[in-house]
Amino acid sequence: MRLLITGAPGAGKGTLAGAVADHYSIPAISTGNMFRAAAASGSELGRQVGAIMASGGLVPDDVTDAVVAARLAEPDAAAGWLLDGYPRTLAQVKALDDLLAGRSESLDLVIVLDVPRDVMVARLVHRASIEGRADDTVETIRHRMEVYAASTAPILDAYAARDLVLTVDGDGTPDEVRERLLAALIARLGH
Ligand code: AMP
Repeated sequence: MRLLITGAPGAGKGTLAGAVADHYSIPAISTGNMFRAAAASGSELGRQVGAIMASGGLVPDDVTDAVVAARLAEPDAAAGWLLDGYPRTLAQVKALDDLLAGRSESLDLVIVLDVPRDVMVARLVHRASIEGRADDTVETIRHRMEVYAASTAPILDAYAARDLVLTVDGDGTPDEVRERLLAALIARLGH
């Protein structure tokens, strides 16, 4: 099973990625988590991406594509995966297409979480108060929403043209949304 999960900041990707990955016994691979871990470790990659993430901008495509290619080459990703937060640009879509073509693999589905904007902003503000993420400030949240609309929303058209998109209403309690998402996945994929 090879899946993507996407949605604007605060849509709940990270939380639901874990549930979907557990359901299919595949690793959930989050570029945001990998970049945050790199920034926290002070590695060379972390030095490159820390300031970009804190500003709410996107890490350059070549850096991001290389991180994903290396991660998908690990043994636990051989039989499937769920990518959370990647691709985020049309160039990344192309890079993933090329990577998968080289492995004779293809995507099964792109999950899109659809959540009203005011709900997402409220969630991000709440997350800031409990997790203290450097990119959960009011200005950065606004910037990340703009980046999503400008750079990431267009990738959905590209995947919709391939009939790969499953849009799920992400408004509700975490339990409600998880049940709704898993039911929609099972209806679409058959298991
Ligand atoms: P996330 O946890 O998915 O919201 O990602 C947090 C931050 O990591 C983003 O705001 C970007 O700065 C960076 N990031 C994560 N995934 C990508 C990606 N696919 N392309 C570029 N930057 C990314």
